[in-house]
Amino acid sequence: MQQHEYIELEDLLGAHNYKPLDVVISRGEGVWVWDVDGNKYLDCLAAYSAVNQGHCHPKIMQAMVKQAEKLTLTSRAFRNDQLGPFYKELCELTRSHKVLPMNSGAEAVETAIKTVRKWGYTVKGVPEDKAEIIVCDNNFHGRTISIVSFSTDENARAGFGPFTPGFKCIPFGDANAFDAAITENTVAFLVEPIQGEAGVMIPPDGYLKKVREICDRRNVVLILDEIQTGLGRTGKLLAEEHEGIEADLTIIGKALSGGYYPVSAVLSNTEVMNVLQPGEHGSTFGGNPLACAVARTALKVLLEENMVENSSVQGEYFLSELKKISHPDIKEVRGRGLMVAIEFHPQVGGARAYCNKLKDEGILAKDTHENIVRFAPPLVIQRDEVDMILSAISKVLPTS
Ligand SMILES: *Cc1c(COP(=O)(O)O)cnc(C)c1O
Repeated sequence: MQQHEYIELEDLLGAHNYKPLDVVISRGEGVWVWDVDGNKYLDCLAAYSAVNQGHCHPKIMQAMVKQAEKLTLTSRAFRNDQLGPFYKELCELTRSHKVLPMNSGAEAVETAIKTVRKWGYTVKGVPEDKAEIIVCDNNFHGRTISIVSFSTDENARAGFGPFTPGFKCIPFGDANAFDAAITENTVAFLVEPIQGEAGVMIPPDGYLKKVREICDRRNVVLILDEIQTGLGRTGKLLAEEHEGIEADLTIIGKALSGGYYPVSAVLSNTEVMNVLQPGEHGSTFGGNPLACAVARTALKVLLEENMVENSSVQGEYFLSELKKISHPDIKEVRGRGLMVAIEFHPQVGGARAYCNKLKDEGILAKDTHENIVRFAPPLVIQRDEVDMILSAISKVLPTS
């Protein structure tokens, strides 16, 4: 089949809820992917940071195949021999007390929301049905009805009401606004350490530290959505480490499986997670042995192969070289670790045009909003490959 035939099939038979670049990928290895015509591209999206470990990491593949031959699903009606060790390794790695495993990121966000509401009623003493959760403008936490209920992106919301009540939006990066928004019914603050989908928006230094202090003082649960920033993306295992804090609940997903399989988890301290009782929450596939085996190995290679450190080193190099490119179209470059963005001035005709030009140079990147291109390659990228991205970026910028 020809490339255009695959595209026509997708467009004819699939829902049009995405607008992908017209590249049909059939193979991946490390930072590289190949399309059906054999063209090679450097992947600078890494499936929205789900393949931090690189495409088709051989050790994760082996773990998956080995486990798939033995046992894939028991449901949580019974126990399995992968779940306990998965909890242990994940808790030790992230200094957590408790884990609740789910599948997609959105499910883990929903899980965190349910957990803090229950905590509010049973521990904090919030009157029934009055719990409030504070979130930030331009957040991205997923696509379910409750999650889009507190989105500020009209595209994500319009036409999907009625919405779930109980959420309050404040500006991102403003600790005073957070303090002022808290009432006696506030149970939690849900925030991304760096807003990825919003365009790699980095809050002022000290923001999370202040937020942590306010949460402690006012008895509010701090939930960090690290689904995108976590597992090495920003140059630390968790982005919270940049400010030396610990959240009460941390949500991870995406790279937790190295892109093999949807695996997410809510990490918690004991007090908050202990409010959940048998029968109150669950998922048929959550915590299944295949997911656990894959996730255990995905975490293991992240550490063994120094991917977190590499993210920091290559990310710093990438950003410092990007900052040297001076071009009238570029408004700002920003990033932390290998989570990097170029924001263009609005008049240029859109970030998507750049992404299409970059594709022709063998670089796959994704526009986010009108004027921002995000670069988030797998964390196994090497310096010469960063140089390839840099030279492609310079090449596609129009000469005036
Ligand atoms: C991707 C993402 C989600 C949603 O994860 P899904 O697996 O797509 O449901 C939630 N929060 C953040 C910060 C994300 O980047």
